[in-house]
Amino acid sequence: MIISSITIRELALPLQTPFITSTTQLTHAKPLIVSFHSDNHIGWGEASVSFGPYYGHETTKSAAAFLRHTLAPLILKQQPQSLEDMDHLLRSIQGNPMSRAACDMAFHDLIGKQQQLSLTTLIGSTHTAIPMGISLGIYTDTNDLIQTVDTALAQGYQRVKCKISPDTAAATLSAVRRHYPDLDLHADANGSYTEKDLHHCTIFDEHNLTLIEQPYAAQDLLSSAQLQQNIDTAICLDESISSYADAQLAHHIKAGKNISLKAGRIGGIQEALRIHNYCLQQNIPLTCGGLYETGIGRAAQLALAGLAGYTRIGDIGPSDRYFPRDIISQSFTQQDGYLLAPNAPGLGVEIDMDFLYYATQHVENLAVDSAL
Ligand SMILES: [Mg+2]
Repeated sequence: MIISSITIRELALPLQTPFITSTTQLTHAKPLIVSFHSDNHIGWGEASVSFGPYYGHETTKSAAAFLRHTLAPLILKQQPQSLEDMDHLLRSIQGNPMSRAACDMAFHDLIGKQQQLSLTTLIGSTHTAIPMGISLGIYTDTNDLIQTVDTALAQGYQRVKCKISPDTAAATLSAVRRHYPDLDLHADANGSYTEKDLHHCTIFDEHNLTLIEQPYAAQDLLSSAQLQQNIDTAICLDESISSYADAQLAHHIKAGKNISLKAGRIGGIQEALRIHNYCLQQNIPLTCGGLYETGIGRAAQLALAGLAGYTRIGDIGPSDRYFPRDIISQSFTQQDGYLLAPNAPGLGVEIDMDFLYYATQHVENLAVDSAL
């Protein structure tokens, strides 16, 4: 198989509703979409980057430059022929996990199409019906929040995650728990707590959370370990886990009991499988974290969420939750609170080319000749 060209597209996709976290407010998603072109097939991948370095250090522009000048030419030059080849190539690159993940995803899509195997089959998923969970931004009005939770539960979501900060946590969690005593309730602080907030953290136990996600900054594993010693609620590490080595270290120092695993954030599907297998062995429950992904990234997440180690409900919902219109032709719709992972070869998605062109703000195409 020859990868004859790689195309890199910068997109701007309006969100269904603006998303507010403790660190930023988003009205558009700005992912990068890469496509690998061979004789017979096109493999698609997504870098779930954003306009600024808030969730991770990569941005739409920095990732586009890295892909254009470094990673895409390297792939065109080395011409990986197997998932192992691609894994080896990607592990030779430092940092840039979202850009690496996009190329890893596109290559899995291409290999799956070539071998006529779905991604779920390629990676060994054990189930394809994935329970839906919703992630809600920070609400300043708890009545609005409760109405939103009401609607989500009526729509079939089986778990609710509320974004919190030290200032909003008490009002948010007490309002939701008062209305829904038995709800599978997660909270996500996106690293907004600091050492001085330790005394606030008893509320996680008081409100019987399934888990508290990323209380402290990504690099602050020691504070996380200190907090985990003092509360019963499981800390779920998200931004702190960028690699297999991070997962090992976090487990070793007892910085948390769960991991939110997103292939798009940790360098791709192969690295996600390494972390998954380690967590399964160490009995560390995984949850499938969500990013603002198009149907391309979501298809990969759905396949991963079907692995045996994903025992906590993640952030996966139907397509129209995030975008008025997606760049894939089919939509992921729910059945009785579950989404089905696609079973067609590769990622199993068809691209809506008209809308992809419409949403593209900048495009670069690299042919194999230009990389030699
Ligand atoms: Mg999170």
